[in-house]
Amino acid sequence: MFFQQKEGGKMADSDRDPAFALSADFMNFSPRDAASRWLAAPDLQVEVYRHLATYVPRILCQGPHGGSGSREEQREELACQLMLLAPLEWLLLGEEPAAGLALLQENNLSSPLCGHVFKVGEPTYSCRECAADPTCVLCMQCFLVSVHRHHRYRMTTSGGGGFCDCGDTEAWKTGPYCQKHTPADRSREAEEDPVSLLPPDMVARSYSIFSIILKYAVDLLTWDQEDQLPAGLEPPERGDTYYCMLFNDEVHTYEQVIYTLQKAVNCSQKEAVSFATTVDRDGRKSVRFGDRQFCEQAKSIIVRNTSRQSKPLRVQVMHSSVVAHQCFALKALSWLGQIIQYSDGLKRILCQVGLQKGPEGENSSLVDRLMLNDSKMWKGARNIYHQLLMNSLLMDLKFKKIFAIQFAKNYERLQSDYIRDDHDREFSITDLSVQVFTVPSLARMLMVEENLMMTIIRTFVDQLRHRDPQGRFQFDRYTAQQAFKFGRVQSLIGDLKYVLISPPPEWSDQLRLKFLDGFDAFLDLLRCMQGMDPVVRQVGQHIEMEPEWEAAFTLQMKLTHIISMIQEWCCTDERVLIEAYKKCLSALSQCHAGLSDGEQPISLSLAGHCVDTFRYQVSQEKVSIHLPVCRLLAGLHVLLSRTEVASRFPEQLPLGELSPHLLIELPLRCLVLCAQVHAGMWRRNGFSLINQIYYYHNVKCRVEMFDKDVVMLQVGASMMDPNHFLMIVLSRFELFHIFSSVDIRKRYREANKDLAQQNTLIEEMLHLIIMVVGERYLPGVGQVEPLDEVRREILHQLSIRPMAHSELVKALPENGNKETGLERVIDSVALFKKPGVTGRGLYELRPEWSKHFNLYFHHYSRADQSKAEEAQRKLRRQNAEDTALPPPLPPPLCPLFGSLVNLLQCDVLLAVEGAVLQWAVEPSGGGWTESMLQRVLHLVGMALLEEQQQLENSSGDDDVSFRYSSKIARPGDAPSTSGSVLALLESLQNAPHLEVHKDMITWILKMVGNIKTARERTSSSGSVNVNQSRGPEETLRDKDKAERKRKAEMARLRREKIMAQMSEMQKHFINENKELFQQSMEDLEASTSTAEHSPPSSEVTCASQVCVGPRRMGGAERRQLVTCILCQEEQEVRGLGRAMVLAAFIQRSTVLSKNRSRGFPDPEHHDPLFMHPDLSVGTHTASCGHIMHAACWQRYFEAVTQKEQRRQQRLRGHTSYDVENGEFLCPLCECLSNTVIPLLPHTPSPDHSVEHPSLEAWLSRTSQQVAVLISAHRKLSPGAAQEAEPVVPEGFRVDFVPQNPFSSSVSEMINTFCMSAYKVGLKVNPNEQDPRVPVLSWSTCAYTMQSIERLLMDEKKPLFGSLPCRQDDCLSSLTRFSSACWTSASLRTVHSHFIRLLAVLVPNSQVEDTPCILNMDMFHLLVYSVLSYSSVHSLDQSGRSSVDSAHLHLLHLITVAHLVQILLTFTTDEVCMDQDGEESEEEALTLQLYLSLREHLGSALPEVSSGWQLWRCVKAGILPFLRTAALFFHYLNSSAPPADLLGTGAGQWEALCSYLSLPSNLLLLYQSQRTLLEPLIHRWCCDPGVGQVLQGGGVLVRFPRESNRLINLPEDYSVLINQASSFTCPRSGGDKSRAPTLCLVCGCMLCSQSYCCQTEVDGEDVGACTAHTFTCGAGVGLFLRVRESQVLFVAGKTKGCFYPPPYLDDYGETDQGLKRGNPLHLCSERYRKIERLWRQHGIAEVIGHAQEANQTLVAIDWQHL
Ligand SMILES: [Zn+2]
Ligand SMILES: [Zn+2]
Ligand SMILES: [Zn+2]
Ligand SMILES: [Zn+2]
Ligand SMILES: [Zn+2]
Ligand SMILES: [Zn+2]
Ligand SMILES: [Zn+2]
Repeated sequence: MFFQQKEGGKMADSDRDPAFALSADFMNFSPRDAASRWLAAPDLQVEVYRHLATYVPRILCQGPHGGSGSREEQREELACQLMLLAPLEWLLLGEEPAAGLALLQENNLSSPLCGHVFKVGEPTYSCRECAADPTCVLCMQCFLVSVHRHHRYRMTTSGGGGFCDCGDTEAWKTGPYCQKHTPADRSREAEEDPVSLLPPDMVARSYSIFSIILKYAVDLLTWDQEDQLPAGLEPPERGDTYYCMLFNDEVHTYEQVIYTLQKAVNCSQKEAVSFATTVDRDGRKSVRFGDRQFCEQAKSIIVRNTSRQSKPLRVQVMHSSVVAHQCFALKALSWLGQIIQYSDGLKRILCQVGLQKGPEGENSSLVDRLMLNDSKMWKGARNIYHQLLMNSLLMDLKFKKIFAIQFAKNYERLQSDYIRDDHDREFSITDLSVQVFTVPSLARMLMVEENLMMTIIRTFVDQLRHRDPQGRFQFDRYTAQQAFKFGRVQSLIGDLKYVLISPPPEWSDQLRLKFLDGFDAFLDLLRCMQGMDPVVRQVGQHIEMEPEWEAAFTLQMKLTHIISMIQEWCCTDERVLIEAYKKCLSALSQCHAGLSDGEQPISLSLAGHCVDTFRYQVSQEKVSIHLPVCRLLAGLHVLLSRTEVASRFPEQLPLGELSPHLLIELPLRCLVLCAQVHAGMWRRNGFSLINQIYYYHNVKCRVEMFDKDVVMLQVGASMMDPNHFLMIVLSRFELFHIFSSVDIRKRYREANKDLAQQNTLIEEMLHLIIMVVGERYLPGVGQVEPLDEVRREILHQLSIRPMAHSELVKALPENGNKETGLERVIDSVALFKKPGVTGRGLYELRPEWSKHFNLYFHHYSRADQSKAEEAQRKLRRQNAEDTALPPPLPPPLCPLFGSLVNLLQCDVLLAVEGAVLQWAVEPSGGGWTESMLQRVLHLVGMALLEEQQQLENSSGDDDVSFRYSSKIARPGDAPSTSGSVLALLESLQNAPHLEVHKDMITWILKMVGNIKTARERTSSSGSVNVNQSRGPEETLRDKDKAERKRKAEMARLRREKIMAQMSEMQKHFINENKELFQQSMEDLEASTSTAEHSPPSSEVTCASQVCVGPRRMGGAERRQLVTCILCQEEQEVRGLGRAMVLAAFIQRSTVLSKNRSRGFPDPEHHDPLFMHPDLSVGTHTASCGHIMHAACWQRYFEAVTQKEQRRQQRLRGHTSYDVENGEFLCPLCECLSNTVIPLLPHTPSPDHSVEHPSLEAWLSRTSQQVAVLISAHRKLSPGAAQEAEPVVPEGFRVDFVPQNPFSSSVSEMINTFCMSAYKVGLKVNPNEQDPRVPVLSWSTCAYTMQSIERLLMDEKKPLFGSLPCRQDDCLSSLTRFSSACWTSASLRTVHSHFIRLLAVLVPNSQVEDTPCILNMDMFHLLVYSVLSYSSVHSLDQSGRSSVDSAHLHLLHLITVAHLVQILLTFTTDEVCMDQDGEESEEEALTLQLYLSLREHLGSALPEVSSGWQLWRCVKAGILPFLRTAALFFHYLNSSAPPADLLGTGAGQWEALCSYLSLPSNLLLLYQSQRTLLEPLIHRWCCDPGVGQVLQGGGVLVRFPRESNRLINLPEDYSVLINQASSFTCPRSGGDKSRAPTLCLVCGCMLCSQSYCCQTEVDGEDVGACTAHTFTCGAGVGLFLRVRESQVLFVAGKTKGCFYPPPYLDDYGETDQGLKRGNPLHLCSERYRKIERLWRQHGIAEVIGHAQEANQTLVAIDWQHL
């Protein structure tokens, strides 16, 4: 053996066939006897162990293959069952296992828990209305019979693991049971112990068997010796047989492992791939079997090879018996899992056994041992025992609780094991937390008894040890290992989320205590975050290195929901809230300790007010964005207000200890930082800071960051003198000096460079004040409900523009349950607009809501704000309203925040307002900005609204303390000594430079007036109904509005009148100049490429339009003028002129294939002359219809090629087209092209001077000509035998060389397209000498026409006149090209093609390899023979024959052949309904022909008695042929179509026949030439091929061929997901496929994007999809990636794109990636659109456009999908 010599080791003796050695035992073994022997033994365990010790190594130690290979596996499985498991079953049941288990199951009360364990990719359903949390899911079977099917549900695909929660009453708020799992008697099930239902002796036996087997399994799975076994299991005979076991890790890549294995164990790549796949799946795999030394060798090579960059792969050399027992241990665990499925009693016994404390006390139960050793086990072992835990402990409500306690007790240890382990969490025992902690009652029990909340948080904090001197987390110094750990430790936050997800319905003292313990721990965590990652403004130089910021934000993001949840918990209990508030406050003061130390105290004074603070500048000192402690306090403070705890228990609250100055300090700094960043002051601090600011405002973080900072300012401002608050704000914004200086205008004179910066800062500060006073939609701050907040968010999103559901969802914050509340309010604020075939459904704001629009909505970014402003102003103009956007009416504040409004009327703000208005008196010049003014006007408006509202709600003027309107009437205080705010406003109203603000100022002044009137009225009449006071304003506005509307209406009417007048004038003009018009229309037609598209009506009405034969009408006399798109020069199309070409794309196609199993022919030897009627592969040509000079195109293409070469040198960028394959983009429309079609002149009109010979005469003359040609060819080939010279017909000159009718440039282009068709059609390299060249050109003409005919037919469009210009042009030039392409090939080649083609119709003994008529597509035959005939005709110099006669005869002959073909394939499958009444002539003749066919073929044809059905079948079967033939001759001879064929009305058949010069009773063709045709028909039928096909020896195609469609897709997307989840990879036995992908053409499911299914195509490994396209779609493919819900288009190996799937949710949106999980349903319009793309051969073009639009698509390795 090769191995032995090379490695010097020894393979284990494989001559001892273990199966053979076993078989004797196998035959004699009786499980029943074994069981009774064990039962009698004194010590059951000793006995069982002895049995296992003997048999396990013999059965499961199967040598080198280790039980792989299906036969060996089966034998092993069988032996295991019979010799190891069956005795256990006998012992357990005391009878025949099958019977015993059935009885058990029968007596078992069905469990209300479904517990179905999910496979990877299986669909899971969660109810968004009823699920306790998003982790509660149902399996598909349960879901379909549950109430939630009619609720709002979410669908996802399972990642594997986890189980169906059906039947768990805690998981569902309503409807916990599906129909299947509804318990019959709910009262009983809870109390009764299922064990008591089992016979007592069985209970006893089960205890002992379960403990023996479970202990055995646990011992072995946790066993760490490589060479020894536990006591009692040592094998009786021990050989030197070892395994070299390779273990999985998550460090090494597939490639590394494969490469190493090939080296180490000398295996093929394929074996190595299989090893690697198994290691990845099961966690370990033996890669070598043999003696110890042999295995050690392999081990050392593997270790050596993988230790270079990282820690080496784990390899162990293990004795074969150890491995065998470990294998059996896994089987035993699975067995236990199966057995307990039969009985809840047994399940409970197993639970008891598993959780029973062992002799070592605490944590010594078998389950504990498994858990604690989890991280040491290999993946396969973990999977199996996790599965068992799920099937047993987690299914038994009583034991789930005990298990939960053990799990919580071991929590810290399990987590630290996991954090060190390198396996993903799904393979870790810690992943079970989702099963345990999400049960709310369990979670609370664990909190109370095991202090779970604190444990989790402490464990988390302990893992992050790296801190700065202040004890804060410091992530920037993390090593890779610490970063890894940080990644892992985040899952603990997930656990915490499970625990907190539902607030308790009631609190016990214990729970309060433990929650507050947890809260303390949480505050510790937050304190470590407070002030993290501080930044200092960089001046001078740019920062050198971007500081780390992501870790801190990751943490913040993960904690966001936790913080919110903790607040929700606090909200449900007053005592907890008060305690938590106190704790949080004291934590904050600890953080603040030392805050103002060393700061220099200063005193500020402005507008007569004075405040003490200290000097601090954000722009110069450290500042941090992370302030979680402050923000939690802000949240709790709002809760105090919301729950009214603040007003009911003020004595219990430490409100007095609050120092508002300190509360606002840090949040204010943070907000100022943002303002300064906006103002561009922090540019040198790099992207890190920009990103942080972005996330600070982002929807994922803002709830617990930005929003809370604003709240904290509101808290502070509500407790302070508003003037003091504003002065501090001004000072922190570093703007105080501007507003406090005596001469404000000094600012102008300074003209310092920071003016723009300062302007932005002022704007930001004004905006902040607007937010502090105006943002009241948080319950507790304002008097609103939670849903009001959501509604307001939506309103402001939709004020920007209409949005899709998913966009709105993204813009709203989600709660811990992943809900936004959107669906509950959306319909009240928005209207839904359904999507069309593209795009998505959109929500539009209901018009009545736009009055709530607030331009300074706090969640708008600057960009949002300006877009919204523009949209709203536009809307108002459209409604003919004024364009002022005044502030909306805000909701009232809660009492605790009531004093906030005073900010609006405080002196400092008035001073600021006055100052800005004062500046605005003069045009800006950079000294002030419109935004600034706009904000001031907004603030003024807010104040006036407030005053108005207070007036309305008060009983009299006296108690309205808000007197803004009178304050602004006063002249300004120092330092602004100028006029009053009101006076300033009045003077600004008509300032020309403030035109945009005019409407707003007018609005303000009106408000002032109204308030004044109201006040006057109240003071005069005492109490008043203020609604009246709004009256005048309202009516004034109404009047205004009405006036504008009237004006708009007038304008509209005027416009309409003018339009009408104009069109009237045009009509007159046309009538008067009719002739002129017609002429210019005709010119137009001639000069554009649409020339023949709509033929003049005079021709159409002509009675007998004929397109073929000597009577045909030609359009040849018309000149063709075309314009080159590149040089814009006009050119006439002439054969001898400059060549003009049409950009075209040619590709292979299987769209029409009726036989996808036919392999692709060998390109070198394939004979394409005879197209099989299954049309399995063809060549399709399309064009965008753009015309160029050939020379212009060549220059363009050269430039493209050169550019591509330069690009490749630079190695940058990609192109969507492949220049090397001749691809380019049309220079005008960028349509993907790969060749050009030359434009050729029309066929000349028929020569009426020559007579039209009869069919007989023509046939005989042609036969003579053929005979002459054959003989001439024979003479040319060497060694030909001499034969009698055939008679040469008169005027036929074999040696004649016809003159080439084309100029060299036209010939060259003919050649170019010929080569493209040849190259693409056969997939070969160009070869001009190949005789097959002309055939491929004819072929693409025929195939393209067939495919277009099918489309027209299926879309019920008329045959003529409905094609788009580009297709019309393409077909016309393609046909004329094909008729000319023989000129570029050798005459002899074309002659021999014609000879062979004719032989199909007129059998000729001198021609070989002629297919029978059943194997011939008649349209291809027609096209080929008509086009090749010209070459024969060219030799006929007699002047007595015309090509047209020949065409007509060929058409007639082939039509008859097709009739025969259809009748031969006729089937009586259809329900036969004999027609009553007279048989028509057609029917009689059809029957006659059929009967004569039966004479030839006998019983191979079914018996038919009436001609009615036959004729119907013939008529339907031949129609496509006639239609394509009509298209063909129409384009060939440029003959105008008859009027009937321009529509789809009645008379189509007759029109078609007459157009083709055929009798409408086609049978007359046969009848009239019977004597001539009968012998031919006889010979057709007698071809042995016919009999063979009819007897099933070939592909039988029936006519009409049914059009191909894409496969049917299910209406409900989850059906597809379900299908895909049970799909396994066809190559790696039974593995789940990671990316199941459905071929939409043939319905084949593929294992895409995976190593296992790569195939070699043309010497390159490609993925399953690409490989499939080569067999199914000739290189083009359409797929549905099921897990991603994405359509994939691929073309060739390098091109592809994704396309929206035809599945939509109820909001009219697709869900690519299945991220949202809304139920998806098939949209058949969209699916038909994809189908049409495919049938029109448009896939490659779509890919081209997609790649052109999105360059990243070009870089994707499509071939690996
Ligand atoms: Zn279920
Ligand atoms: Zn169920
Ligand atoms: Zn529901
Ligand atoms: Zn040109
Ligand atoms: Zn184009
Ligand atoms: Zn696969
Ligand atoms: Zn397919």
